[in-house]
Amino acid sequence: MNEFEMIKQYFQDKTLKDSSVVLGIGDDAAILNIPQNESLVVCVDTIVKGIHFLTDTPAAAIGHRALAVNLSDMAAMGATPQWFTLALTMPDANEEWIAEFSRGLFELAKHHQVTLVGGDTTQGPLTVSIQVLGTLASHKGLLRSGAKVGDSIFVTGSLGDAGAGLAMLQDKLEVPLKYKEYFQHRYEYPEPRVITGFLLREVANSAIDVSDGLIADLRHITQASGVGAHIQLDSLPLSDAMKESITLENALYLALASGDDYEICFTVSADRHADIQAIAEKTGVPCTHIGEIVSGNEIDVQDKNGKTILINHQGWEHFS
Ligand code: ADP
Ligand code: MG
Repeated sequence: MNEFEMIKQYFQDKTLKDSSVVLGIGDDAAILNIPQNESLVVCVDTIVKGIHFLTDTPAAAIGHRALAVNLSDMAAMGATPQWFTLALTMPDANEEWIAEFSRGLFELAKHHQVTLVGGDTTQGPLTVSIQVLGTLASHKGLLRSGAKVGDSIFVTGSLGDAGAGLAMLQDKLEVPLKYKEYFQHRYEYPEPRVITGFLLREVANSAIDVSDGLIADLRHITQASGVGAHIQLDSLPLSDAMKESITLENALYLALASGDDYEICFTVSADRHADIQAIAEKTGVPCTHIGEIVSGNEIDVQDKNGKTILINHQGWEHFS
């Protein structure tokens, strides 16, 4: 199978048809119609074998992850993802691998109604770069810089599961047999919180997706906003699997410092808790109140006795 047949069968023929796409895969570039009065929102994220996913990660999970991490960025902006491009670098054109990659990719793409409009295919070490394009009613982006003193800090879903899954897959953590699949799934198939992010754009003051760990990512909000934060350790949302699998101390450490969860951390004025509750009910994705924005520039994590917890590892920081 040559490159063009492969692109046609596993990418062009698999993507959605969308009337906003004037010209999709097949020409030198794509042409898209952007709705009037909306802004274009663009992000790109690259994942590299052995760095952003384990060398034995199934192809379908790699396809899912490459898109999911970008949809998560869109969610954290309150934007609606609509189109994407795919730059795929592979050591060889293994058709079985490509078929599985395509299946994982398009399951998620269909779920979020995003259309593949172009890409590039090259030979080299396995690397997947996806760019997502989305739209936003011009004034409504959810920025990192909007947190205000007195805001409540919330996070979606549960924290630390992906970190536990990664540690388990690396043989660094033992979990009960009945939860192995759960943790592996939470690491391999992150669920971008797109609808929650979209609904939050009307309500939240700031937001970020948790890719590197709660503390590391919340720090981006506090720095961009010129504020500090206070986190209540015992309010961090932990899954039942987490609570039943490892000690509370280890679970909370993972919740604070491990990455790959792709939940959204956001801040909202303290009088809007009812709006957050309504969004959680509408989406089925829980939103948990974990702390407050305070003055200063520190992130202070306290246990239930009011004692400050020191975190000596602040999640995964690239190039540090
Ligand atoms: P060019 O030489 O003009 O860059 P390419 O041969 O790279 O063209 O690509 C031909 C067409 O196939 C383009 O429309 C491009 O967007 C699309 N394409 C190439 N690789 C991919 C891919 N991995 N996924 C989706 N579309 C792709
Ligand atoms: Mg090209």
